Amino acid sequence: MDPIVAASLLANRRVAWVVADCSFTVTAVVDPDGLLSPSGARIDVSLLDAVPELIGSEADLDAVFAGQINRLELQFVEREDRLGVPIYLRLVVVAADRPPNATALYCVFEDVSELGVSRQRLMQSRNELLLAQRSLAETVADLKASNGELRRLTDMKSVFLSVAAHELRTPLAVISSYADLLAQGLVGDLESRQLQSVEVIHDGAQRLLQITDNLLDMTRIEAGRLELVLQVLDAGELIASIVDEQRPLFQQSGQRLSIALQPGLSNALMDELRATQIVVNLLSNARKYTPAGGSVDVVLSQAADPSELLLTVSDTGVGIAPEDQPEIGTWLFRAKSANQINAKGVGLGLNITRSLVELHGGRFWFESTPGQGSAFHVTFLAADPEPVED
Ligand code: ADP
Repeated sequence: MDPIVAASLLANRRVAWVVADCSFTVTAVVDPDGLLSPSGARIDVSLLDAVPELIGSEADLDAVFAGQINRLELQFVEREDRLGVPIYLRLVVVAADRPPNATALYCVFEDVSELGVSRQRLMQSRNELLLAQRSLAETVADLKASNGELRRLTDMKSVFLSVAAHELRTPLAVISSYADLLAQGLVGDLESRQLQSVEVIHDGAQRLLQITDNLLDMTRIEAGRLELVLQVLDAGELIASIVDEQRPLFQQSGQRLSIALQPGLSNALMDELRATQIVVNLLSNARKYTPAGGSVDVVLSQAADPSELLLTVSDTGVGIAPEDQPEIGTWLFRAKSANQINAKGVGLGLNITRSLVELHGGRFWFESTPGQGSAFHVTFLAADPEPVED
């Protein structure tokens, strides 16, 4: 190669070379940057002592000498420089003169430490990535297994609840109706103390029936088996009739109950039975969590979004502490305020109410201030009146 070209190629590169003769004895060492200094690269020693990295490659060295292969290359030879700092060298072994008449072997070293360190870091990162991938795969597998187990347990819970509720429902209905017969005197007159006991039995059975019905609804909702029969209904008329039915209960509890229907409301898309359940749940909660002397207001209006009707049931009751509010409507949750006033309940009603509202395509939310009261809001989809058939 032209010496000028060679010099420009070598400029800024840290290189060293060792020359060996045909008996693989070192005849020259050129090492201006001290790349090989701590090693035994000296004239007259064997090439394998001077460059121990070549041990095991003797056959390849012979092949380079004989011109059977052009070069022998070792990519990252690890050495230390004269200060003991680890360095990476690329080693290329070529024959001097034209094989097969070669007279010497040149072992050329180039300092590729930057590349070597980057490669080392890359390998380390790759190893860390592999470890992370493996641990991620294990976590995913664990999660899948836990998910499967959770699904199995949830299914078992639903089946158990549904079977238990079904089995309880019939005897409870029998107890309730017999207690009712007794209370009405249809199977003979009762003394007042007997009558009181029978009424306690009737109320207890009714409460248990309510719980079993809620459990059945919940398992149906969870299993996606609760289907609504949606009709175009006059929501105002439906809600007013429910309020009228409930009014005596509010009178018994010493609470005022008012209803306001915005005039000219559109109809709503409702399942009559389930929409009634929603309204009754909200009213019975308002009654349960409002002390005597308080009031409950029912308002039905057009929502800000004209495709919705907004029903609000507000009360002047115990309210719900801010820290309890995010949990309201979740399975079996009861706020502290409910326990403080010893109100009976199990924390199923609002969970079902919210699901029923969502099945109607509506929304559910509330605001509450402890000691001042709560306002529960639900929306129903507005519907145009059905065309009258001739
Ligand atoms: P339950 O009334 O059987 O406990 P719900 O699911 O109907 O169950 O209600 C869940 C909880 O939400 C109640 O326990 C109560 O703490 C709170 N809550 C519901 N409605 C009201 C209300 N109108 N005023 C205050 N708290 C309420």
